[in-house]
Amino acid sequence: MNAARKIPVRKRFDCSQCPGYCCSYQIPVNERDLARLAKHFGVSQKEAAERYTKTFEGEPVLRHRKDHIYKSVCMFFDRDERRCTVYPVRPSICRRYPGVNRCGYYDFLKFERGLHGDEDFIPDA
Ligand code: SF4
Ligand code: SF4
Repeated sequence: MNAARKIPVRKRFDCSQCPGYCCSYQIPVNERDLARLAKHFGVSQKEAAERYTKTFEGEPVLRHRKDHIYKSVCMFFDRDERRCTVYPVRPSICRRYPGVNRCGYYDFLKFERGLHGDEDFIPDA
């Protein structure tokens, strides 16, 4: 019997070329996310919640700190290297994002870079 073959969907964005706009969002965390972070840092889940989260609009989100490109970014974002420092244990929402094969911000970034003729151009946040 022929098994239906899944055709891989090609991603149309490259996070390595982006300064990490999505890491400037407020990132909600659930219990499993917290448990992963707690294990990674060798702290209790309660400590992880206190150290790494704050309440935003009534739900726990990752804490932020100031950033020179966006107003603020996730506390786990390396602001010089522009990458996640907890990538293997990042929250589930970070794993799923953007959920489709395109990223709206990346399309915008590419458009602006083309317009300015500068592959490193970053539009004002
Ligand atoms: S904003 Fe889009 S391209 Fe940039 S890091 Fe996030 S998912 Fe990747
Ligand atoms: S956990 Fe990592 S991927 Fe998720 S917002 Fe923070 S820096 Fe970005």
